[in-house]
Amino acid sequence: MPILVADRPVLRMTSELGKVMAAARAREQAGQTIYHLERGEPDFETPPHVVEALAAAARAGETHYPDARGSLPLREAIVEKVARENGIRCEPDDVVVTLGGTHALFLAFQALLGAGDELLALSPHWMAIPKLVGFAAGARLRTLPAYLPLLAGEWSPAEFAARLRAALTPETRGIYLNSPNNPTGAVLSREQLQALADVVIERDLWVVSDEAYEHLLFDGTRHVSVASLPGMAERTLSVYTFSKSYAMTGWRVGYVVSPAALRALMGPILSFYTTHGVFPSAQTAARAAMTGPQDSVETARRSYQERRDLLAHGLAGQSTFRIPQPKGAFYAFADVSAARGGADIWALIDEWMGLGVAVLPGTAFGADFGDWVRLSLATRREHVADAARILCERYATVGARAPAR
Ligand code: PMP
Repeated sequence: MPILVADRPVLRMTSELGKVMAAARAREQAGQTIYHLERGEPDFETPPHVVEALAAAARAGETHYPDARGSLPLREAIVEKVARENGIRCEPDDVVVTLGGTHALFLAFQALLGAGDELLALSPHWMAIPKLVGFAAGARLRTLPAYLPLLAGEWSPAEFAARLRAALTPETRGIYLNSPNNPTGAVLSREQLQALADVVIERDLWVVSDEAYEHLLFDGTRHVSVASLPGMAERTLSVYTFSKSYAMTGWRVGYVVSPAALRALMGPILSFYTTHGVFPSAQTAARAAMTGPQDSVETARRSYQERRDLLAHGLAGQSTFRIPQPKGAFYAFADVSAARGGADIWALIDEWMGLGVAVLPGTAFGADFGDWVRLSLATRREHVADAARILCERYATVGARAPAR
């Protein structure tokens, strides 16, 4: 029998989300109610005018091979948007429309990372990052646990810069940054980003800035794009997606804005030979999302903030685990070290699943987070409230396996 799978480590990587979702499905099939706090999937519908724009474009014949870089009208709209909202000045040729943020990150890592190169990811990081880096053959991922101390205000900008310098090696080519952060909800301030920019310029590095949650910000927190800081546009690939802001996860439309030096590579080589571009009607609809009414974005933002508060309120009766208050995105990252009580994190995931609450282990977001779990707020508010009640009862009545801290 021939060998079925190529000998590449990335093809052997498993998915914690897949494992939790399969366990949840099995319990549901057996009749149990499961609250899905494991998925990062907006529960809103795509705005109707966007759906209409897709239908109209398809009827008008926008069904043929697209420009692999993205349609010019969409790229022009993106140029205006990133100038207005992100403080990034660029030309349509610096924009590539991608199959969501995932494909944008894939292109960025393919462009920047060769064999032996290292990417430094601030962590906890989105769980697909090791796989996406793994596809850049021979490249390695190094992590710096940074979002929790940054969120807690425990590191001054100078300390952050010092930690970054200490984490770099001669092989480091760039830094993966994700603010607002999945899973902690940390949103880096201008001062924190400036500290990172200083180190990046000093060491002549790239930044891949994943801004998937740029519009989902709480309590008046501002989002700053690192490429808008002096000297950073020429060394930053800024990644965006329509998935989260417009509840368009299934449409697979995102984009990457890169320095002019990468023009010949990103669209003509990487995008063309990986996807041949994005469905043209979906691009026209994405343009309608970007240029049309934005009230759905605000409605979603407000609901995520309400659910964050609902979760905190619902859990207030227990002191076994603790959630640093997220400033953006739609997750809560909980320190469950006392609840875990020395057992493997998967034992806690199973126990919570048994209670009807599906969450992801922190280890999905980096090896350093075995004491943490991620709860997603992208599920109905009643489900967030029910899950909080179940967990609160579990820890208020029976007590934790180990003494509460
Ligand atoms: N970056 C982060 C941090 C994410 O959480 C996600 C989706 N969960 C993405 C990028 C990619 O999303 P998409 O491919 O749907 O645009």
